[in-house]
Amino acid sequence: MALEHNRDRHDPAIARHLADRITRTNKRPIRLMEVCGTHTVSIFRSGIRSLLPDTVSLLSGPGCPVCVTAQKEIDAFIKLTREPDTMVATFGDLIRVPGSGSSLQREKADGADVRIVYSTFDALALARQHPDKRVVFLGVGFETTAPTVAAAILAASQEGLKNFFVISAHKIVPPALTALATGKINIDGFLLPGHVSVIIGVDAYRPFFKAHQVPCVVAGFEPTDLLQGIAMLVDQIEAGAPALENAYARAVTDAGNVKAVEVMQQVFEVADADWRGIGTIASSGLAIREAYAAFDALNAFDITMQPVPEPKGCACGEILTGVKIPPQCPLYKTVCNPMAPVGPCMVSSEGTCAAYYRYHSTNKI
Ligand code: SF4
Repeated sequence: MALEHNRDRHDPAIARHLADRITRTNKRPIRLMEVCGTHTVSIFRSGIRSLLPDTVSLLSGPGCPVCVTAQKEIDAFIKLTREPDTMVATFGDLIRVPGSGSSLQREKADGADVRIVYSTFDALALARQHPDKRVVFLGVGFETTAPTVAAAILAASQEGLKNFFVISAHKIVPPALTALATGKINIDGFLLPGHVSVIIGVDAYRPFFKAHQVPCVVAGFEPTDLLQGIAMLVDQIEAGAPALENAYARAVTDAGNVKAVEVMQQVFEVADADWRGIGTIASSGLAIREAYAAFDALNAFDITMQPVPEPKGCACGEILTGVKIPPQCPLYKTVCNPMAPVGPCMVSSEGTCAAYYRYHSTNKI
């Protein structure tokens, strides 16, 4: 069933049909992982878990960029706020993430110049407006965000701006799938992220699929999109016929957004990256190329990233890899809640702990 029209994506009859198809087809316990944080929130908000048979489990993966940002990266962001004549520009989700001894929010309250922006280009505008300040944009995100950050660096380069910098903690999704597929948890199928796939296209997953032969379906964000993606995964699993399929063809092509990928690759090169809970994944991050080193905050500031332990008792790492669910964390709802978060999974609007906290009473866990 193709969901080509808007009315299809909101049609309860289609949702019911897809849920029935999943129930009819499913014969054994299976574990699916939705890799994307936006999928996690959409699944909870729409109550999809309650429509699935008990034998189909949904695990939330490492698809919330704030959540997978390593503790040492958060600490480096906080150190930047203490540099003289420096303004730090960040997306709002990051501001409350606890570092080892502080947070961006606490530094701001103590007088640091921390600005919340909605786009990298807002940070660029701040650099133009404040030539006496060094403006650092905190680059956190996946392939969805990185092209815009790259475009801002290109614009700064063309304008000859000398006071705009980016600290790149960007991460890319396909290498993380390999880490998950070879990790502690047996995952029967992956619901692949919609937004990231708009940029990188279905072809970007082919090497992973070829190597691991795990059922994979790219899915959109409406409830029927998600149910269709789950139904396609269940079909593949029950038939013993793994495939890489696209349930979001109205937005995702095989090649992706070629121009956006070109811009991203012009400015960034692939590098190893540390993921919270997973550790270092080879070739899973984006570093600023030498040609644009003048805009790299790691060159312009005396900032080093030292490995630091994650918050004591916080199980974010295990939650991001599907090993645990939030109620299995002893701090969940006891000392950790959205008003007093211990880890980033409770801070971010796309975090799994925040989604459980907000929606668990209306969902099957
Ligand atoms: Fe970390 Fe809080 Fe989630 Fe526990 S409930 S894993 S402490 S964010």
